[in-house]
Amino acid sequence: MSKMNTEKIAVVTGGSRGIGKGISKVFASQGYKVVVLARDAAHGKVVVTELRKEGGDVIFISCDVSQEESVKKSMQEIVNIYGRIDVLCANAGIFPQQSLDTMDGSQWDHVMATNLKSLFLTVKYASVPMRKQKWGRIIVTSSITGPITGYAGWTHYAASKAGQLGFIKTASLELAKDNITVNAVLPGNIITEGLEELGSDYLAEMAATIPMKRLGAPEDIGNAALFFASEAASYITGQHLVVDGGQVLPESLEAML
Ligand code: NAP
Repeated sequence: MSKMNTEKIAVVTGGSRGIGKGISKVFASQGYKVVVLARDAAHGKVVVTELRKEGGDVIFISCDVSQEESVKKSMQEIVNIYGRIDVLCANAGIFPQQSLDTMDGSQWDHVMATNLKSLFLTVKYASVPMRKQKWGRIIVTSSITGPITGYAGWTHYAASKAGQLGFIKTASLELAKDNITVNAVLPGNIITEGLEELGSDYLAEMAATIPMKRLGAPEDIGNAALFFASEAASYITGQHLVVDGGQVLPESLEAML
């Protein structure tokens, strides 16, 4: 594929594994300089090596997106290296399963800090250079779980993902005058390393419940993020796009062919 972009800097939180790795791969393949942020440097090294082999211009910076000082320092480091941040893909997230009766306050807080507070922190600090440039694109990886569907064991996760959509509606208003858009992608079931470990029977069962009869690939989410980052999407802000192979559409089993 020919590259469509050359000098833009894309920061991908949680870009070392799963969906974030797919997003990093798609942006790198299009000529963006990609900065992967995550905590574990070993995974970071692997993705940098892999994407560089494919011709990508990719670096890793260790960052805990739930910690303000860590986010502030990482964004500053990126500006020191490249002088700008053009795209923020706020993707890092966790989804530990915990039912209401066994969940305690610290477990709730941990999910909220990693999934929702991190969005506030990364947008706050990445938008500093974007405001100066008068150009920026922010793309959030939310989920169908919370904004659209429910799933027992994930009240904290669902609340954090629905909260992200509330956040972008107001953040997009505050940032619009500086030509910064803020949008979200809502993935359905995407094949990541963690899901693959559950085995092919389990994956086939999941795929059967999806109208398009396949699970999503991380690159499917990367392509949607790439669209929101593009000039073609320059007049779209505060919106979300469901990328789920039609998973949330059937109103009953009979509605599926
Ligand atoms: P994953 O494979 O577990 O990867 C999570 C990524 O986030 C890793 O790179 C991880 O790196 C990073 N991360 C976690 N906590 C972090 C922290 N405190 N600071 C910085 N980085 C952190 O997860 P995934 O399935 O790709 O999910 C990615 C996003 O997609 C999440 O927001 C999730 O809610 C959303 N999503 C996933 C699916 C799906 O089917 N997989 C569906 C809907 C939505 P370190 O651990 O090294 O920090």
